[in-house]
Amino acid sequence: MQKRGAFGIVSVMKKDTHPTYFPKATIQCACGNSFEIGGTKEKIEVEICSACHPFYTGNEKVLDTAGRVEKFKTRRSVAAASKAKKASK
Ligand SMILES: [Zn+2]
Repeated sequence: MQKRGAFGIVSVMKKDTHPTYFPKATIQCACGNSFEIGGTKEKIEVEICSACHPFYTGNEKVLDTAGRVEKFKTRRSVAAASKAKKASK
């Protein structure tokens, strides 16, 4: 009789279908924060993490790459100014 593993199906599992698992994979974020997590890669680089994502930080920091936010704010203030002018007429 065949000897079975603790869960009965252990001998059925194919070893090469499972990727290498790193229980302490390093996650390196663009903000400088790094932490360890279990993963299939030894090192993972991310652009945003829980330490710098506005949802977690509560900051209303917007990643502005081309000054688009500034342009929008300027346009909005101009629009608000012209609206005020019309209202005063
Ligand atoms: Zn981060």
